Amino acid sequence: MKKRILLLAGGQSGEHEVSLMSARSVLNALPRDQFDVTPVVISKQGRWLPPTETQRALESGEAPSGGDLVLHRAASAEGYDAVFPLLHGPMGEDGTVQGLLTLAGIPFVGSGVLGSAVSMDKVMTKQVLASAGIPQVAWQLAVRREWQQQPDSVRDRAAGLEYPLFVKPANLGSSVGISKVARAEDLDAALNLAFRLDRRVILEAMTAHKPREVEVGILGNDAPIASPVGELQFAADFYDYETKYTEGRATMHIPAPLPADVAEQVRTLALRAFRALDCAGLARVDFFYLEETGELLLNEVNTMPGFTTTSMYPKLFEAAGLSYSALVTRLVELALEDR
Ligand code: ATP
Ligand code: MG
Ligand code: MG
Ligand code: MG
Repeated sequence: MKKRILLLAGGQSGEHEVSLMSARSVLNALPRDQFDVTPVVISKQGRWLPPTETQRALESGEAPSGGDLVLHRAASAEGYDAVFPLLHGPMGEDGTVQGLLTLAGIPFVGSGVLGSAVSMDKVMTKQVLASAGIPQVAWQLAVRREWQQQPDSVRDRAAGLEYPLFVKPANLGSSVGISKVARAEDLDAALNLAFRLDRRVILEAMTAHKPREVEVGILGNDAPIASPVGELQFAADFYDYETKYTEGRATMHIPAPLPADVAEQVRTLALRAFRALDCAGLARVDFFYLEETGELLLNEVNTMPGFTTTSMYPKLFEAAGLSYSALVTRLVELALEDR
C-alpha cells in the first residue's frame, strides 16, 4: 500500500520562502507509485493552510493568511504514515514541530526534539561540540536583556574576540540577521539587528583570512553515512542571503578540491558531530578550512538543509550515486525505521 505523507512547508521563520522552494522540489520528486503526498503550507502567521490555499502558496511562493491553528490540524494529521517537515529555522527546524509530531505519535523525517533544538541554537551546538572535542572558532553568548541593560559588558566581550567578528542570531539560517563587523563602531548596529530576530545572539571570532567553506551531507539514523565533501566559492565578503539565493552568485564544487586526508577528516568530524548532537535522518555539516594551516573548524550543523534540486545537500548525495528522488525516498524510509 502507498505510504501517506504529509509534507509541511513554509513556516513562521525568516526562511519561509526558502522552505517553499525546497518543498516544491520534494513534492515533485517523491515517487507517486510509492507515496500519496499531501502538502500543507504553514503561513508566516503559523496557520496551516487548507489544500486550495496551500496549492496557491506553493505556486506563487508566498502564503496568504487564513488556515487553522497548528494544534487543531495536528490531531487530523493522524491519518498519515509520516510527516516530512521541510521547514527551516525557528518553529520548524528547532524541535517545536518535532515535539508536536512526537506528541501526535506520527513518524517524521529528520532529527527529533533534542537534535533539532540543540543544532538550531548555534551556542548550544558549540557547547556540545566542544565537549566532543570538535574544533571551532572562539565565541561568546549575549542575551537580549544584557544588551539592553549592560551593553558595555557585551561590547567588552566582543572586543576580546577581536575584529572583524561575526554577529548572528543564535537560532536562524540562510544568513538572515548575520553581520560581519569590521570595526567596533559597527558593533551596536549588528547587535541591534540580531536581537530583533532572537533573544540569544552569538559573537564569533573570524578566522585570520577568508576561510574556504566546505560542507558535507550526513544520511542515516544510528548508522549514518557521510557524502563526498563539497565546496562553495563566491565573490562576496561572506556567504550572505543574497549570495545564497541569487542565481550565479556562488558555485558549488563537488567533490571539493581538497587533499584526500582533509576531506576524510571533514567526514569524520561531521559524523562525530551528528552523533554528539543526537541528529537523525539528515544533516548538512558546514566547516571552515584554513588552507595556510590545514586547520578545519566546524561552523554549524543544519538539520533541515536547503532542499531544492540544486541545493548542496542533495547534490552531495547525487555525487555519491543517490538521485534526488532516491534520496527523498530514503529519508522517508529512515523516518519509518525502528531505532
Ligand atoms: P545556513 O543557511 O547554512 O543555515 P546560517 O544562517 O546558519 O547559514 P552561518 O552558516 O553560521 O549562517 O553563517 C553564514 C555565513 O557567514 C557562512 O557561510 C560564512 O560565509 C560566514 N561566516 C559565519 N561565521 C563565520 C566565522 N566565524 N568566520 C568566517 N566566516 C563566517
Ligand atoms: Mg545554519
Ligand atoms: Mg540552515
Ligand atoms: Mg551555514
